[in-house]
Amino acid sequence: MLWYPYEQMKTMSPPYEIVDAEGVYLYTKDQKLIDSVSSWWSVIHGYKNPVLDRALVDQVGKFSHVMLGGLSHAPARDLADKLASWLPGDLDCCFFSDSGSVAVEVALKMALQYYLNQGQTGRTDILALEHAYHGDTFKTMAAGDDPDYHFVLQAYGPDPHVHHIPTEISALEEAFQRYHQTLNCLIVEPLLQGAGGMRMYDLSFLQRARELCDQYGVLLIFDEVATGFGRTGHRFVADLVQPDILVLGKALTGGYLGHAATVASRKVFAAFYDDNPDHALMHGPTFMGNALACRLALASIQLFEEGNYLEKIRTIEAVTRREMAGFAHPLVREVRILGGCVCVEVTDPAVLAGYQAFAYERGVFSRPFLNYLYAMVPYIIQEEELVRVLETMKAWFARR
Ligand SMILES: *Cc1c(COP(=O)(O)O)cnc(C)c1O
Repeated sequence: MLWYPYEQMKTMSPPYEIVDAEGVYLYTKDQKLIDSVSSWWSVIHGYKNPVLDRALVDQVGKFSHVMLGGLSHAPARDLADKLASWLPGDLDCCFFSDSGSVAVEVALKMALQYYLNQGQTGRTDILALEHAYHGDTFKTMAAGDDPDYHFVLQAYGPDPHVHHIPTEISALEEAFQRYHQTLNCLIVEPLLQGAGGMRMYDLSFLQRARELCDQYGVLLIFDEVATGFGRTGHRFVADLVQPDILVLGKALTGGYLGHAATVASRKVFAAFYDDNPDHALMHGPTFMGNALACRLALASIQLFEEGNYLEKIRTIEAVTRREMAGFAHPLVREVRILGGCVCVEVTDPAVLAGYQAFAYERGVFSRPFLNYLYAMVPYIIQEEELVRVLETMKAWFARR
């Protein structure tokens, strides 16, 4: 039996059976659907992309996987080198893992050990944002702030080593005043909080966060698992404000395979680079640096660079703004748009009951959650396809 994610197995409605997928389309036996979710925001080049397919098959012909313990290979090194040169500043030191959650765990462990290696044992605490989502493993759940995902954690009570604040500069300043001696890091999903409800906030918050982290010697972690590779309209938010540790996932492999990276700055790496074996980073996911995933990531980055993707995303944002201009409804609390993300927040989750089937009939796959009806489309989408996704969203309210 297949146990599905985030579902009450007893009452869930049966999922759609996908038999083929190409470009922005998912195919069921009797319907062709635009995937407005990009398979959890990862399939940025669409399905069955010939370049990605070729990279994968080519690597399968050599070897699919060898571990990085005591062994090395070109795909993993090439990807690490590519990311080092492609990412801003001195974000040069790349640690791979198999999923975003694990990569965030690695970032949090790195931040803690960064201080331990320097003899500072009191830096045990994490500053994080309200409505944050950083993954489903235990420490990422603690850094997260959403009982809808993490209610099981309540069994332990609140984590005394994690402090949550709203995305307001005054709250940020207050938290640094209060906790700076015990903080090892501030972790944020920069500009766009995804699973916590597609919440968008201002760059000035991140700029002030950078200043305060510098002032108090606290590491700044950007969890760009969702926002990386253009989703906010910027290549990475790290291009605007540089973190000390950057976490990438989801779109890293173009959505073909699970892989993620925790990229540390030279300063962070230097705290581990030592004659003392205890100062090593003791982490090593079995499938880190998987050769297939690394080849896919290299091919995906090349597509992103050569295909003028930031221009594509600008067009997606412009079309979205045009189509959603003037859209309002008593059941709609807010419409939020940033880059390749649009979210219609409604007044009550019940407003969205039945939307998925409604969209299916109109050739769109959508998966609203709680109060949030959203689209994060593949960047290769054509204008008329995007308009169809947005028309479908608006049409739902026309009948109410
Ligand atoms: C999806 C997500 C994660 C977790 O990634 P997985 O690959 O699902 O483990 C972490 N952080 C953010 C911001 C995410 O959106």
